[in-house]
Amino acid sequence: MLQKQKKHLLYLAVAGGVFLCWLVFLRYSSISISEGPSEYDKGLPWHQVHDQVVLSDRLQTKQTMLMEPVRTDVLTVTPWLAPIVWEGTFDPQVIDEAFRSYNLTIATTVFAVGKYISFIHDFIETAEKHFMVGLNVQYYVFTDLPSHVPINMTLGVGRRLNVVKVPKFDRWQEISLRRMELIQTAIEEYIHQRANYIFCLDVDMIFHGRVGPEALGKLVAAIHPWFYWVPRNEYPYERRTISKAYIPQDHGDFYYQANIFGGAVEDVHRLTKTCREHLEMDKSAGVEAVWQEESHLNWYLLKNKPTKLLSPEYVWDDLKRPGAKEIKQVRFSSIIKNKTEVRENP
Ligand code: UDP
Ligand code: MN
Repeated sequence: MLQKQKKHLLYLAVAGGVFLCWLVFLRYSSISISEGPSEYDKGLPWHQVHDQVVLSDRLQTKQTMLMEPVRTDVLTVTPWLAPIVWEGTFDPQVIDEAFRSYNLTIATTVFAVGKYISFIHDFIETAEKHFMVGLNVQYYVFTDLPSHVPINMTLGVGRRLNVVKVPKFDRWQEISLRRMELIQTAIEEYIHQRANYIFCLDVDMIFHGRVGPEALGKLVAAIHPWFYWVPRNEYPYERRTISKAYIPQDHGDFYYQANIFGGAVEDVHRLTKTCREHLEMDKSAGVEAVWQEESHLNWYLLKNKPTKLLSPEYVWDDLKRPGAKEIKQVRFSSIIKNKTEVRENP
């Protein structure tokens, strides 16, 4: 009798155990199923991006010869098979023809805070000549001095200048630290409704040559003009482990310059959101990465490889003129500025 009771109790315990396991399984499997896409994947209706090249029969193009590489002096593709855009690697006519029909809008953010407002006129004037000509461009000028923005400049068809008021920051480093946050918020609030692609640019720059739809891609970054021949252990990455931007000596692809980056709005949103979070974590740990947002951008792009890279033609520096022989055309370049004159602090 006692034996039988014990047996029943044992059955009951086993059944209870199985039931509990089943409950636990249900709970966790339902969590993973309901997790789904992130808040913004669900919440924001991203515009489509078009990077497939579809041409009409009308266009006569030169034959491409597999055994005749267009550039033999520079790398034109990364180990993860992303193209590196150099003069000679693309046919502007083919690119323009392919992108014309898509009616794309490119949001373009540029900060002109404090004395940097003096750069905005030449930036816009030269952008109108060379930047995404023929496409819709929405400039967003972030400034503490809205009345100083030259809103009467004549812009091409489909192009518009929007002014976004931001507070004045006390230290120039602060602007660099806040840029990611302000771009992230602008994407969430209005850019996601209006644009297919977004480019984030420095204002102390001038366009000298074409920067067209050949630069469009899901995630796009430009190779810094001062570090493209040096070994990666000499890149000015953040090397302190305490920072979220930390990159060890034996890691790294290229050193990217933060003066120009962009891509599909959704991809750039993810980039700015991550960098902003990392910048804030650093701040609460009392650390500022060696090159502020540029250090965090480099960390992000090491983990999330860009789908297209712009050669240093797209982010040159006037201090380096005349260009090196691999630079056939300077397209976008930092002007020489008197840092102590334009910056609020040393
Ligand atoms: N910036 C600004 N006001 C400032 C400092 C910086 O508007 O007082 C913006 C501006 O868009 C500038 C960018 O932040 O192009 C990056 O700063 P800066 O050009 O001084 O950095 P650098 O290119 O010299 O590293
Ligand atoms: Mn700059």
